[in-house]
Amino acid sequence: MKDTKIAWTDHTFNPWMGCTKVSPACANCYAERDMDKRWGRVSWGPSEKLTKNRMGLSLWGPDSERQRTKSPWKNVRRWNRAAADEGVVAKVFTGSLMDWAEDHPQAKEYRPKMWEVIRECQHLHFQMLTKRTERIAECLPTDWGDGYPNVWIGTTIEDNRVAHRQQYLAETPAVCRFVSYEPAIGPLNEMPLDGVDWLIYGGESGPGHRPEDKQWARDIRDRCFAEGIAFFHKQSSGYRTEMGIELDGELIRQFTIPREFAGVFRNAGTGLVRAKSVRKRASSERLEVNT
Ligand code: SF4
Repeated sequence: MKDTKIAWTDHTFNPWMGCTKVSPACANCYAERDMDKRWGRVSWGPSEKLTKNRMGLSLWGPDSERQRTKSPWKNVRRWNRAAADEGVVAKVFTGSLMDWAEDHPQAKEYRPKMWEVIRECQHLHFQMLTKRTERIAECLPTDWGDGYPNVWIGTTIEDNRVAHRQQYLAETPAVCRFVSYEPAIGPLNEMPLDGVDWLIYGGESGPGHRPEDKQWARDIRDRCFAEGIAFFHKQSSGYRTEMGIELDGELIRQFTIPREFAGVFRNAGTGLVRAKSVRKRASSERLEVNT
């Protein structure tokens, strides 16, 4: 069922592809790096656009095209049916090759359809990550209310320089808010943790990965533990994903359960986790999952 190497989710969904670098974290953007050698060969979007891709159509930068995908939309509906048949909920990281809140005319055009499919797929929980938290409010659907029950809103915060992103996240009504401190390229000791339900730590992976100081991971782990926030240690800085998954000899892979959620949750690792009726803040219902 799980079809991604990313340990904290089950699937990845990109309603379109392409983006603009906005942050030091984007320096080694793997989506841009892999575009030609991997994504250009798969069945994304109309063939005319694929041909242009192979010919070198750039999907990066403010003036480049954003390519609406095709098969990922079918996959989402298929995952939803499978989860419904099994009576579980699967997690879907939305936006590994794009940023769903980007200020771009094609992103604006595609977003309403993205919300439609998310609304439709109630057996999936969409983990939506953006670096553009100042744009979240503008990009939410009109019927968002206190947050869709199946949407987690998150932001990447790689170090103190961009810690201000957390303020916008904290102001967003959502059943679950999370911070991805990955790629960790500096300390993050100045970011308040108010309103954060879940925090993922990861050193940078891939070619050109930047080094980390283990103390960054220890500091944020200790703060999360002290404040009752679920903490997921993904990995240390390394060439491949899932290298150095232990921190001080411990595998710490905690998940949170969204507020107001009751059901059976598919663990990103193995097996299923039954969620009780959750009426309190997720932090007090934290799950420990050692995979
Ligand atoms: S926001 Fe994400 S997808 Fe966009 S350039 Fe940065 S790392 Fe790449």
